[in-house]
Amino acid sequence: MRSALLTILVLVIPGVRQMTRYSPSRPSAPKRIVIAAGTIYDGKGVVLHNTRIVVEGSKIVAIDSNAGPVDYDLRGLTAMPGWIDAHVHITWIFGKDGKNGAAGWTPEEVAQQYANNARITLLAGFTTVQSVGSPGDLPLRDRIARGEIIGPRILTSAQPLTGQGEQTGTPDQIREFVRAQKQAGADLIKIFAAGGPTRNAPTLSQAQLDAACDEARRAGLRTLVHAYGPAVKMATIAGCTQIEHGVGASADDLKLMASKGVYLDPQAGLVWENYLLNKEKFVGTPYYPATLEGFASMEQLIPLYHQFLKQALQVPGLKILFGTDALAGSHGRNAEEFIDRVRDCGVDPMVALVAANALNARALKLADQIGSIAPGLQADIIALDGDPLKDITAVRRVLFVMKGGVVYKNGP
Ligand SMILES: [Zn+2]
Repeated sequence: MRSALLTILVLVIPGVRQMTRYSPSRPSAPKRIVIAAGTIYDGKGVVLHNTRIVVEGSKIVAIDSNAGPVDYDLRGLTAMPGWIDAHVHITWIFGKDGKNGAAGWTPEEVAQQYANNARITLLAGFTTVQSVGSPGDLPLRDRIARGEIIGPRILTSAQPLTGQGEQTGTPDQIREFVRAQKQAGADLIKIFAAGGPTRNAPTLSQAQLDAACDEARRAGLRTLVHAYGPAVKMATIAGCTQIEHGVGASADDLKLMASKGVYLDPQAGLVWENYLLNKEKFVGTPYYPATLEGFASMEQLIPLYHQFLKQALQVPGLKILFGTDALAGSHGRNAEEFIDRVRDCGVDPMVALVAANALNARALKLADQIGSIAPGLQADIIALDGDPLKDITAVRRVLFVMKGGVVYKNGP
């Protein structure tokens, strides 16, 4: 139902526009769209009132309260740049048996599941995601970029470097691995440098981490390091770009990150809430508890993550990103993380929104293209029913989604 509606929106609206704006002298002039908005959060923390956003082709060309005629009237909603999720696993699915994994699906059905994850993520307001840790992300990224399927812009790591102590390889072998990912089309390098929040021993030596992050830097790629406890400091010393999760890092480790400009990408609950919500699907699958009772310990982890984010908020200058770790069961529910941050960790709602806009864009090195509503940037624009500064649950009510000047959702 919804996808049929979308097809109509995408196919018919450009056609109408071509008819009304047809000009023999400028046959290739990009179509112009004017959006009226009552309230705009510009992505950097600035609020604009009663103005219009002018879009031509894929880009915003002006903010002009006198522009017209209006194509989309978003007055009554709250408009902002499309959100960026710094950490998802877009190709993580449940199998035909309903269990965590891809069991039972044909390759075509798997591709369909991936496409569905991408579609629901975009329609939830996320116009760009960084998907970290699966080579399956590459063809999905490319299909979306070619316009074959609907989804957010994807940046991905291809194969991650999974720390396994000495077995991971020598520093030279690690450098070779990093170059191979670049060759395979990776936008960044994902590194697993520790276990989980409870067993947080580093799984890479300092020399191995140094090699990975240095080689990535030489190749012009950023490094995202899954780290807990002592590995946080090690990755910071190694000059890696961004730390994922981070629980168990000391106040001094976080200060060191801030002084070196290393980004922190913590989570405030969605990932654990999702495991608990879907425990029947995860139970007994690799890396998850063998019994349902085993999931009780996860409930204790949630306050640990809340506490860690609160601790990080106290560190002056620490750049805290918005990354949800969305995986099977939480695709399309990424915005729940905003609610967790604001409700459970006391994050200022505007700070949470800016993290998912301008700050994430900077961390992705895409600040000149996305993350803000300003002339010259991609027309990634969403609008919510309600004001998330007053009621953070408004993030669940995304009624309008435009990515690169194309409207994918306009209405409930
Ligand atoms: Zn993850």
